[in-house]
Amino acid sequence: MSQSLLLSQGKLEAFLACRRRFYLRSLRRLPWPAAPLGDESEEALARGQQFHRVMERHFLGLGIAPEEIDDGRVQHWQRQFQASGPAIPDGQLLPEHRLTVPVGRHLLLGRFDLLVVGEADGRAFAHIFDWKTGKARREADLRQNWQTRLYLALLAEGGGALRAQGGNGRSLSPDRVSITYWYAAEPDTPRTIRYTSAWHAQNWADIQAIVAQIDAALSQDNWPLTDDWDECRRCAYQVYCGRQTAGHDPLTATEEEESDELTDLSLEPQTP
Ligand code: SF4
Repeated sequence: MSQSLLLSQGKLEAFLACRRRFYLRSLRRLPWPAAPLGDESEEALARGQQFHRVMERHFLGLGIAPEEIDDGRVQHWQRQFQASGPAIPDGQLLPEHRLTVPVGRHLLLGRFDLLVVGEADGRAFAHIFDWKTGKARREADLRQNWQTRLYLALLAEGGGALRAQGGNGRSLSPDRVSITYWYAAEPDTPRTIRYTSAWHAQNWADIQAIVAQIDAALSQDNWPLTDDWDECRRCAYQVYCGRQTAGHDPLTATEEEESDELTDLSLEPQTP
């Protein structure tokens, strides 16, 4: 296989969890989850998506009054954001912004809830904001997860080209890149993570190494099943692998995974 792929956070995570899952999801394009989510998960996902649309309208300057929002929980989150939202730096506001950066023959993809780019103290900066409506996570965990690692790396590698007044090249100094997670469950304590050059050197090398592994798997068409049957418990593809005896944890879908599916529909992988 010699495909050029669009690699999102979800796809990197799928590859690391189980190569067969990556193959079934990203190359065979089997729907995920194949089974309907439980009622609670469906409701939570729909609310999260509605909140993201409200925030997008807000940062596009379109505004939305609380009474225009039919869901009481989403209304509450919006009021919390208005009362206790994080400080947004002066700069160009880019809600629901996508950025792709080449790595080898593939493209890495990030989709930011809000990206602010601008200049402070004479130097360009980029600041990502991510709205979370699920359970709050510790900053130490967020630093390790692939959303944080991929998004920060994408801005360091490609954020220089985003500035309206024209950047000086594609890259941006890593120490001028940061991400803030705002949790509706803990509105007064946003988690801000600042990137560094040393972290980027290691992080980018790790990302390149994973992409090299994906290339090797593509060239050999080798997609083994994971040995970790716990992964199979929360996988929609058991029946394709003969792993039905692994048992079941409830299937979930995050806002990022849903947007991955939509992005896949609108941005097809390129084949040379
Ligand atoms: S069922 Fe298990 S082996 Fe099969 S794709 Fe899912 S995680 Fe991988």
